[in-house]
Amino acid sequence: MTEFTIVALSSAAGKAGVAVIRISGPRVRFVLETVAGGVPEPRVATLRRLVDPQGEAIDTALVLFFAAPASFTGEDVAEFHVHGARAVLARLLAVLTGFPGIRLAEPGGFTRRAFEAGKLDLAAVEGLADLIDSETEWQRRQALRQMDGALGDLVGRWRAALIEAMSLLAAELDFSDEGDVGGPLQQQALGLAAEALDSLRRALGGFAMGERVREGFVVVLAGPPNVGKSSLLNALARRDVAIVSAVAGTTRDALEVRLDLAGLPVILIDTAGLRDSADPVEAEGVGRARALVARADLVLGLRGVDSEPYRIEAASRLLAVATKADLAGPVLPGELPISVRTGAGLTELLDAIAARLRGLDPGEPALLTRERHRIAVADAIAALQRAVTARHQEGELLAEDIRLAVVALERLVGRIDVEDVLDRLFAGFCIGK
Ligand code: GDP
Repeated sequence: MTEFTIVALSSAAGKAGVAVIRISGPRVRFVLETVAGGVPEPRVATLRRLVDPQGEAIDTALVLFFAAPASFTGEDVAEFHVHGARAVLARLLAVLTGFPGIRLAEPGGFTRRAFEAGKLDLAAVEGLADLIDSETEWQRRQALRQMDGALGDLVGRWRAALIEAMSLLAAELDFSDEGDVGGPLQQQALGLAAEALDSLRRALGGFAMGERVREGFVVVLAGPPNVGKSSLLNALARRDVAIVSAVAGTTRDALEVRLDLAGLPVILIDTAGLRDSADPVEAEGVGRARALVARADLVLGLRGVDSEPYRIEAASRLLAVATKADLAGPVLPGELPISVRTGAGLTELLDAIAARLRGLDPGEPALLTRERHRIAVADAIAALQRAVTARHQEGELLAEDIRLAVVALERLVGRIDVEDVLDRLFAGFCIGK
């Protein structure tokens, strides 16, 4: 795997003041000697003239060298901070990949080597991916925490406690007569398992928030036709505040807008676009609108001030909005009045949405952020639950349940069964990471 040296543009493609080309592997020192006039002192930014093998100048660059194993990948690594011109990048990459044993990196190639060198566990790799993808403050904070190993550390503590429980059970089995169950060591082991179980359950409780922060809170605009759903979504999509991106439904109208509301990632979805389609599709559209309302974190129930109230099945997730407040008509108790025509109430509406979503935060920092994490923790919980509730079991069966919990946790941090997850994860990475 690591016989090849990999190279890639690690900064974004396109014209820029500075661009970073990174190279990792056994040929890094050779490259530095050949192209940069020698291997600079590790970790000291050094200004060098980069030349091709014929001695022709490519660019002037700031060169950084990290000697193995104290580098991101654990291998020798160099970074060339060159001028971010397409011509410079093309020439330097062509020269570097022209040397035998050097290849362009695949997406996530550097991170894969970091993982293989034990520099990052799987949860940290996911955190890194999330950090690069982060668009809002909450996403950035959560991703950084995961990249820094918060989840990996917690898993490490659970695992250590459970392995100790297993060794206590093994000791008990060695010392006790056959059929003798429930000795003091076994009780101690069960205590450790119960503690881990408790902590696992608390972590699982934070998953909903962690997943939402990662993927975006779903806020759905609901209400009868003509109440002003599309107008509201498009009014928000055209405001330059808070908009991350607008996904076009038709050429003119947005169906979905991604907002950054005070750091919270929000996906605002208009159900009208789903329904306003031609006949055969209509039934499908209504069904999809209902499903969206059912899974939304918050439902904006819109009613025109000039029209009758109606019922909407969203209970505590409902935020009632009175639209067209510029027209004559009453605003009912609990309704937030807005007018897309005058712009009145839109800022208050965004504030109210952010406040309601912040209210979903259980307070503890969320550590589980992906379905994969949830499944692993749920598997560990199920196994430990069997262990702590079946108090008359034989020691071997107890130990087996605890071992299954350990296996689930090892899967979580990538100690086992890691290849599929890595392949999927790295497919979404940019080249150069
Ligand atoms: P939807 O079917 O719920 O998506 O409703 P639309 O957004 O298509 O709006 C229906 C009609 O209400 C359109 O004619 C809009 O121009 C009008 N409308 C939307 N918002 C307002 C508003 O704030 N004030 C007034 N007076 N009319 C509005």
